[in-house]
Amino acid sequence: GIDVLTFGESMVAFRSDGPLVQGGLQTTRVAGAESNVAIGLARLGHSVAWAGRVGADPFGRLVLRELRAEGVDTTYAVVDVERPTGLMFVEQRTADLTLVEYRRTGSAGSALDPADVGAAVARTRPRLLHLTGITPALSASALECVTSVAESASAAGVLVSLDVNHRNRLWTREQAKEALTPIARRAAYVIASDDELDLVADGTEEEAVASLLAHGVVQVAVKRGPRGASVHTVAGRVDVDAVPVTAVDPIGAGDAFTAGFLSGVLDGLDPGECLRRGAEAGAFAVSAKGDWEGAPTRADLALLHGHRPGATV
Ligand code: ADP
Repeated sequence: GIDVLTFGESMVAFRSDGPLVQGGLQTTRVAGAESNVAIGLARLGHSVAWAGRVGADPFGRLVLRELRAEGVDTTYAVVDVERPTGLMFVEQRTADLTLVEYRRTGSAGSALDPADVGAAVARTRPRLLHLTGITPALSASALECVTSVAESASAAGVLVSLDVNHRNRLWTREQAKEALTPIARRAAYVIASDDELDLVADGTEEEAVASLLAHGVVQVAVKRGPRGASVHTVAGRVDVDAVPVTAVDPIGAGDAFTAGFLSGVLDGLDPGECLRRGAEAGAFAVSAKGDWEGAPTRADLALLHGHRPGATV
């Protein structure tokens, strides 16, 4: 089997060089949290497959060719001839405020079907199945897909990871909580921003974590942006500072973090070392424009170790 299978909706993102209302030049890139994580893991040398639906249009072909170029297996992706690839239009208003306009209602990606993913799990036999809280928000069939595969995979001994990834444009916090709580309880690894933990368990951070660990979650990673991150296990809590870098684009930090963290898990590292790899990958991501373009390879990570700030290597 492979290391990781993930699935979800990948879109084409058009990033404007100024406010969208003024038009301007657009940069065309592939976007999608799960495919960002897949690329991040592939760059770190893991075998990864991405499943999902794209339209029979140039945007769908762009998504698949970019993933393949990054070493992600797309064998189990489905080309949906009846629906278009989802699109998004992005304008960066300030260094850390980005506005997004989606054209994804009725997209191929949202028509994900449990059979698509069931076949991918059976054929790839992954060690780890990575899920996000975005996919179940896309449609009733996508929710069914994530819920059922989380249950069947965890019952079959596949490690499941969930990045809560709340998208308030797709559903309310109440809807998210109802859908994601049972999925999180099936997961071995739950990853959330500090303002997302209440979508998978009640109470303060410590109370929410205690409840997840009691349901069998092995590690809960909490992201805090430039303030770093934490990991909780039954043995306690470990914190890591963010790696000090000049952030040029905060989008994608979380997905790079998740890829780095899961890479550590796959390598059998201690929780604190998984956390460090996540924070390092997040720092590379914010240092480059684009959602996944800055995600590090192992050689990139090695650059951080043993060089003083300002060094030319
Ligand atoms: P998300 O994109 O999901 O909101 P975060 O912004 O919390 O995720 O980023 C994930 C991780 O990336 C953080 O825990 C941190 O380690 C790293 N990171 C994020 N922003 C910065 C930054 N400005 N400088 C350095 N590291 C950062």
